[in-house]
Amino acid sequence: MLVNGAVVAGKGAGTAKGLRSVEEIEQIRVILQSRFEELNTEYEEAVAQNTRLRLVEIGDAAGDDQADSGSKTAERDAATSLLRTLLDRRTQAEHALHRLDEGTYGNCEGCSNPIPVERLEVFPSATTCVNCKQVRERRAS
Ligand SMILES: [Zn+2]
Repeated sequence: MLVNGAVVAGKGAGTAKGLRSVEEIEQIRVILQSRFEELNTEYEEAVAQNTRLRLVEIGDAAGDDQADSGSKTAERDAATSLLRTLLDRRTQAEHALHRLDEGTYGNCEGCSNPIPVERLEVFPSATTCVNCKQVRERRAS
């Protein structure tokens, strides 16, 4: 289903430091760009879904019993957390694209060590190494 229309002008590609070749960087850019667009579409669909949910809720509010409104709250919470997740991922992909432009892509934001290529292959939008990611998550929770 993924139509890859990402013909991105390679601005700043020549400024990247490190061992990555221009071709590699362009490849990563295409991947990140299509990932970003995918997430953007998903996010917009989720927003529309959320809006529908709210409208139904407003329409139904008058005749609600307790159990009913409880399950709606759960449904809305799930929708809200999906939105947050999608937004996070989209921001992450966008951020990775910026770092690609800056030439800092592939280096950890925490410790500035190179992020292992295997990790970037699985998570192209990763901007930290596994260690720093875990430290961040521990701090956030
Ligand atoms: Zn690190």
